[in-house]
Amino acid sequence: AKGAGKGRWCRYQSELHTAIVERLELRAALTEAVQKLSFSVEYQPIVDMRTGAAVGFEALARWHHPARGPVPPDQFIGLAEETGLIEPIGSWVLRQAVEAAARWHTVRHEATAVPVATGTPYVSINVSARQLRTPGFVGTVRAALEAADVPPSRVMLEITESLLLRDQEPVWTELAELRTLGLRVAIDDFGTGFSSLSYLQQMPADVLKLDRSFTETIASSRRQRLLVEGIIRLAGTLGLEIIAEGIETEAVRTILLDLGCASGQGYLFSRPLRDPDALRWLHGDPPA
Ligand code: C2E
Ligand code: CA
Ligand code: CA
Ligand code: CA
Repeated sequence: AKGAGKGRWCRYQSELHTAIVERLELRAALTEAVQKLSFSVEYQPIVDMRTGAAVGFEALARWHHPARGPVPPDQFIGLAEETGLIEPIGSWVLRQAVEAAARWHTVRHEATAVPVATGTPYVSINVSARQLRTPGFVGTVRAALEAADVPPSRVMLEITESLLLRDQEPVWTELAELRTLGLRVAIDDFGTGFSSLSYLQQMPADVLKLDRSFTETIASSRRQRLLVEGIIRLAGTLGLEIIAEGIETEAVRTILLDLGCASGQGYLFSRPLRDPDALRWLHGDPPA
C-alpha cells in the first residue's frame, strides 16, 4: 500500500511538474509575442436583427503562436492578466480596433446580399480588470481616439459583470469618466454574475450583453425564455440597450425579436472576421 501511495505521489509530482513547465513556456512565449506583436484582431458584426445590417463590431484578440498556431483568447487572456502583459496587449488591441473603426465608413451599394448599415458602425472593445486599474487608462483611450480621429461615440468598452461587481470603487469611477467623454460601456456576459437590481440601476453602463448561456437555451426551454423576457423588460425600464450573444439559429433570432431584443451577434450572422473581410461584409460583399 505504501508503494502504491508513493507511486501516486510521484505521478502527481510529475504531472504538476509538466503543468508548471508548460505554463512557464507559455508565459515565455507570450512575453516574446508582446515584443514581436504576434497578435491580430478579428471583428464580429453586431447586427440589427430586424434587417441584418451591422451596427457595430466586437474586437476579439488573436495570438499566433509560432509552433502551436492560433491560441484562443480564453487560453491567454488570463495568463496575460496575471503577468501584467495584458497592459501592452490591451493597448495594442485598443489602437488596432480604433484604427480599424476609422476605416469603416459605410458605402451604399445598389443591390447587395447583406443589408448595408445606415449609420457608421461602432467598435466594441473588451477591457480587463487590470487594464482598467492601470493609472492613465483614460488617457490611453483618449490618445488612441485622437490619433485615429474617431469620435468617442463610436467606441464601446465591454467590462464583464463579475469585474463590475468585484472592484466597484476604482472601476466605476474610471468608467464614469470614460462615459463623460462620450464612450459607451457594456456589461459583458450579463447573467453570469449576480447583480442585484439596485446595483444594476447604479452601474455606469449603457448596454447589457446577454451571455450565450441564455440565448443558447431559449429555443428549448420555456423557463429560460421567461427569464430572458424578464431581463429584456428590466433593461428597457433602466434605459439599457440589450445585445444578445451567441445567436446560432434562425429560431433563436425569431424568439429574441419577439421578446423585444433587436441587437445581436453570433455565427448565424457572421463569425469574427479579419479587418479587410469586416469592411467587405459591411459593404455587402462576400469575403475574399
Ligand atoms: P466574449 O467577450 O464573451 O466574446 C464572445 C466569444 O464568443 C468570442 O470568443 C466569439 O468568437 C464567440 N462567439 C461569437 N459568436 C458565437 C456563436 O454564435 N457561438 C459560439 N459558440 N461562440 C460565439 P473568443 O474570440 O474566443 O473570445 C473569448 C473571450 O476572450 C471573450 O469572450 C473575451 O472575454 C476574451 N477576449 C477576447 N479578446 C479580448 C481582448 O482583446 N481583451 C480582453 N481583455 N479579453 C478578450
Ligand atoms: Ca465581449
Ligand atoms: Ca460576452
Ligand atoms: Ca465570455
